[in-house]
Amino acid sequence: MDYFDLHCDTIYELSEYGLYRRSRGTLRENGGQLDLARTARYAHYAQVFALFCGSTPIQTEEEAHVRFTHLLQTAQNAFASCSDVLVHCKTADDFAAAERQGKVAAFLSIEGAELLQSEADIQAAIDAGVRIVTLTWNHRSCYGCGAAADNDAGLTEAGIWLVQKLSVHGIVPDVSHLSERGFWDLMQNTSAPVLATHSNSREVCPHLRNLTDAQFTAIVQRGGLVGINLYVPFLTRNAHAEPSDILRHIEHFCALGGADSLCIGADWDGCDRLPDGISDVTGIERLAEALARHGYTDIQIRNLMYDNAKRFVTANF
Ligand SMILES: [Zn+2]
Repeated sequence: MDYFDLHCDTIYELSEYGLYRRSRGTLRENGGQLDLARTARYAHYAQVFALFCGSTPIQTEEEAHVRFTHLLQTAQNAFASCSDVLVHCKTADDFAAAERQGKVAAFLSIEGAELLQSEADIQAAIDAGVRIVTLTWNHRSCYGCGAAADNDAGLTEAGIWLVQKLSVHGIVPDVSHLSERGFWDLMQNTSAPVLATHSNSREVCPHLRNLTDAQFTAIVQRGGLVGINLYVPFLTRNAHAEPSDILRHIEHFCALGGADSLCIGADWDGCDRLPDGISDVTGIERLAEALARHGYTDIQIRNLMYDNAKRFVTANF
């Protein structure tokens, strides 16, 4: 099968900031949830690799610069060391070439725009081919308020300036982690498509990291995409989740008319709790099996797993 995923934290785990240092782990092979040895099972595989700002708030512009530079270097080194099987894609043409060659299509995103606090670092991200930026992580930053900080506080003036600056360069804003107020501030200040790379339905599971029906519908109307997240607390209020809990979110979004706007943003290496039977990136096959058992057609499964995201990249990157 083919698999296109909008969000993982593997680069962070490979960096010196990783919460668990893998013993000589690399992008090709490591003890975490995602490596290229395991994704080789997918005929075509595309992955957006996030440069994650980290869960401890950044205090100074210098600290942001050091973290961003180290994460970008980690990603570039990892991509270069796998260039026999992986292409770093900056454009739709790069993606088409990777697909033709049967190589992994790797994209870069930034999770937490607070990593970019100087014009020089914003330019460095543009030059490095970053295509997606989440405007906040969970905290309040110079650009806005995360969903865990204050849902009634939105984007700052600097946040709105950043959105407009990035959009000039075709970089797509990502609303995962953004507060609800910030989401609507963004929608008022851009007419471009937006992504929620790793968020589920708040109607199905009432978590602040999930999207309301109104938010989801607005993303669909803009031609955006939502990536389904496999982290248990975003799937269900129960202690454990089953693949069927993932299906409840997919079904709800499809019922809102979003079947062509859905894909996967599993959050590999960012989840310490996954549904039963899914322990790493190979578990996407279990999800595809569950969808088939529930009557989803091959085309519907293919759209969710690959084609919807492929269409977005082809049209927007
Ligand atoms: Zn995240």
